[in-house]
Amino acid sequence: MKILVLGAGVVGVTAAYYLARAGHEVTVLERREGPGLEASYANGGQLLGETIHPWLAPDIPGLVLRNFARADAPYRVRFSAYPERWLWGARFLRNCTAARVARITADLRRLAVYSMAALEELRAAEPLEFDHSGRGVLRLYRDRDQFRRAADAAEDEDAVRRPERLDMPACAALEPALENSRVNFAGGLHYHQEQTGDAHKFSAALAAAAERLGASFYYGCTVERLMHSGGGVTGVKSDQGVENADAVLLSLGCHSAQLLRPLGLRLPIYPVKGYAQTMPASGANAPKLALQDVECKMGITPFGNRLRIAGTAELDGFNKRADPRRAAAMLDTLMEILPNCGDPGSAELWTGLRPMTPDCAPVIGATPIANLYLDTGHGSLGWTLACGSGRAVADIISGHPAALDMRGLTIDRFL
Ligand SMILES: Cc1cc2nc3c(=O)[nH]c(=O)nc-3n(C[C@H](O)[C@H](O)[C@H](O)COP(=O)(O)OP(=O)(O)OC[C@H]3O[C@@H](n4cnc5c(N)ncnc54)[C@H](O)[C@@H]3O)c2cc1C
Repeated sequence: MKILVLGAGVVGVTAAYYLARAGHEVTVLERREGPGLEASYANGGQLLGETIHPWLAPDIPGLVLRNFARADAPYRVRFSAYPERWLWGARFLRNCTAARVARITADLRRLAVYSMAALEELRAAEPLEFDHSGRGVLRLYRDRDQFRRAADAAEDEDAVRRPERLDMPACAALEPALENSRVNFAGGLHYHQEQTGDAHKFSAALAAAAERLGASFYYGCTVERLMHSGGGVTGVKSDQGVENADAVLLSLGCHSAQLLRPLGLRLPIYPVKGYAQTMPASGANAPKLALQDVECKMGITPFGNRLRIAGTAELDGFNKRADPRRAAAMLDTLMEILPNCGDPGSAELWTGLRPMTPDCAPVIGATPIANLYLDTGHGSLGWTLACGSGRAVADIISGHPAALDMRGLTIDRFL
């Protein structure tokens, strides 16, 4: 089949690779000058298989309301006259009940575990250099009660998922860079099975692998609309002309909904801005292990000789501008946790827009429109979920059932 993949973020590239590997004639259209230059460029880099969790939780509505106007709050909503933002926000908050969180977490975990197995197979099959590390992730808790509750709850996890419960001396023994920390953490949970890697480098390496399998990538090509006839989607119109295809896979990140609207499909994907700052790591004072500051909702990840802090969630439409107060607060947090880990003056600031659905789960598979498929809406988890989503959607497009239960991950839930 001739298949057009729209978007060369980590999600589109991964799907394109699997489609090419299945023997299809694959063409990828991307408006930027290379792969992985939007949300996939400088994300937190954490690949959370067994411990994946949506941003939803029963305490989120209170957290959002309490921190509405604080510059350094982990969650922030900017005032807007557009009702879309508030409607999306209301749907998100409605998903914060304990029952919904449990169901959505189970759906995401299924996909995440499948995704990590797919990544492992890919790493064995292809020469991919992306600063991968399998040392695990250490979740650090500032609040004693929260740490105790999280550690007690973790006791009930099965052996694969159960983290190691560590007091601060044990955390510092595991990650010596924490010895000088100025934050009085209560303790940490070490998830030894989790991994990290650079999603941008991965996207570039996997795009090259897809090209070796025969896929073509066209950069600097903006898709303007989907071409449609009575029988379904027939191709796309881009600023380079018309391209026909037997099937079209849409992976345009937070721009996915725009292209679907003229076809009568309303996909609730909204951009949620995040910040990342990357700097050269300074030797012994920099961590070798990925860390999470649970209360500040920040991830700190080493990538070879670079160190990155990433986090924050801001509802601000498609505006990618960084609030300098927020950026400064982030670096202060980093230097408080890991003094001398690098020169904050050399940090490169980046913002990216997470393509979020209100239930924090992606939309994968067929649509009610013939020949049109989706692999999008991965929100805060797209790097983790890319390989599993790409493999599943390639199976579906090829006419095989996906090798995992797709409940909670398809477009049906929004129709
Ligand atoms: C600060 C931050 C930290 C994060 N940390 C993590 C993490 O630790 N772990 C994790 O799993 N996930 C993380 N994420 C989420 C992850 O980065 C995203 O879910 C993922 O990058 C989404 O990939 P995508 O391919 O769907 O979107 P994108 O990477 O945005 O790709 C979409 C592509 O479509 C292209 N495009 C858009 N419109 C058009 C058009 N009209 N024509 C042609 N091309 C078009 C864009 O240029 C872009 O390249 C983080 C995100 C952020 C912002």
